[in-house]
Amino acid sequence: MSENKMKIPYKIYLSENEIPKQWYNLRADMKNKPAPLLNPGTGKPLTAEEMSGIFCKELVDQELDDTTPYIDIPQEIQDFYKMYRPSPLVRAYCLEKALDTPAKIYYKFEGNNTSGSHKLNSAIAQAYYAKKQGLKGVTTETGAGQWGTALSMACAYLGLDLKVYMVKVSYEQKPFRREVMRTYGAEVTPSPSTTTEVGKKILAEFPNTTGSLGCAISEAVEAAVTNDGYRYVLGSVLNQVLLHQSVIGLETKAALDKYNIKPDMIIGCAGGGSNLGGLIAPFMGEKLRGEADYQIIAVEPASCPSFTRGTYAYDFCDTGMICPLAKMYTLGSSFIPSANHAGGLRFHGMSTTLSQLYDDKLMEARAVEQTSVFEAAEQFARVEGILPAPESSHAIRVAIDEALKCKETGEEKTIVFGLTGTGYFDMVAYEKFNDGEMSDYIPTDEDIAKSVAKLPKVPGQE
Ligand SMILES: *Cc1c(COP(=O)(O)O)cnc(C)c1O
Repeated sequence: MSENKMKIPYKIYLSENEIPKQWYNLRADMKNKPAPLLNPGTGKPLTAEEMSGIFCKELVDQELDDTTPYIDIPQEIQDFYKMYRPSPLVRAYCLEKALDTPAKIYYKFEGNNTSGSHKLNSAIAQAYYAKKQGLKGVTTETGAGQWGTALSMACAYLGLDLKVYMVKVSYEQKPFRREVMRTYGAEVTPSPSTTTEVGKKILAEFPNTTGSLGCAISEAVEAAVTNDGYRYVLGSVLNQVLLHQSVIGLETKAALDKYNIKPDMIIGCAGGGSNLGGLIAPFMGEKLRGEADYQIIAVEPASCPSFTRGTYAYDFCDTGMICPLAKMYTLGSSFIPSANHAGGLRFHGMSTTLSQLYDDKLMEARAVEQTSVFEAAEQFARVEGILPAPESSHAIRVAIDEALKCKETGEEKTIVFGLTGTGYFDMVAYEKFNDGEMSDYIPTDEDIAKSVAKLPKVPGQE
């Protein structure tokens, strides 16, 4: 085993030429396709025409395309990718040693750009199509701020205007990320705000709300529809975002293939599901085509457990209930995680693609508590050198748990996990943890039942 160990470097890099030139569309290989988005007014599947009032034309085509397995990455996007890709696949030798585990652990590190996360992979693609369509600008929401930062970078690069609605609690607790966005030229508004009708309505009903992603989405969509030459872009959940994020999985697979490594287990954190959907794409493709088998695990916060405690049903993607309906594992669009929740991954629902795969039992999910997530983050940071984002640390938690199981059983499993980003802007949360002031809040069945009871009435859904 130690000889084998010697052969695999700490970092498996690909060359610039090995950056994927096409995205992989996992839906093409799914027998049970993800359910279509519905128009909340008619209850019918959204048409391309209806969608094009909200989204850019080419992104609408990608959203609706369930059949084309490979989609060319435009040259301009490939060139942008070259600034910060390929990202390294790291063999976590130091973590393995610290855990004294026979497991072989690898992580795909997406934090090596200013946004500090994988979100730039889709931001540049969405901004590119907006620019190509001749739009003036785009609107979006951001939670912790990684998506807003990524999109600000992409919009600055292409000369597009950007209006960001930032969840109020993050706007206040994360001034640094807010200022990074403004440095890149974005206009940042705390949400809920009085700049939109939906924001005013939410504030009237919940004057002390610290905001939620769902609420910020409502405001950003309204701003897109009411401003000429603007469209709305979203950093997760949508099929198009998973498509763009497939570069993560394609690079991971190419790197593993160089050394003939076949993972037993692929682990990723899941907020809206984009990094996980991207990381697992080529592996899930093999699984769907019956060519290989992998254990695939989504990790979510116990305080926002869409997969493990949600309901698979049509729901709004936003709190304001103006967005299309998506069939997904959801806690209900009015679900807002408790204010002490610090670890990101706050969205109430989950990508329709991943929801279908989970419902078909092609992947598993685990919910973990935030103090155990920060313990894992710290343990990882101390031996691997990278200060991980709290979101990413959900995946670290389960990777460590699985590696420790291998220690007990003596199995030499190969574990791959997605290290989606860095946590430099999350030091308020780390401070809480370091001061022993972080607590775990797990919603009661009652809490969840309350928001699930408000699921929209859709034909065929009781
Ligand atoms: C946004 C984000 C996530 C979660 O989003 P997904 O769409 O579920 O991937 C995870 N990690 C980091 C660092 C993020 O910024």
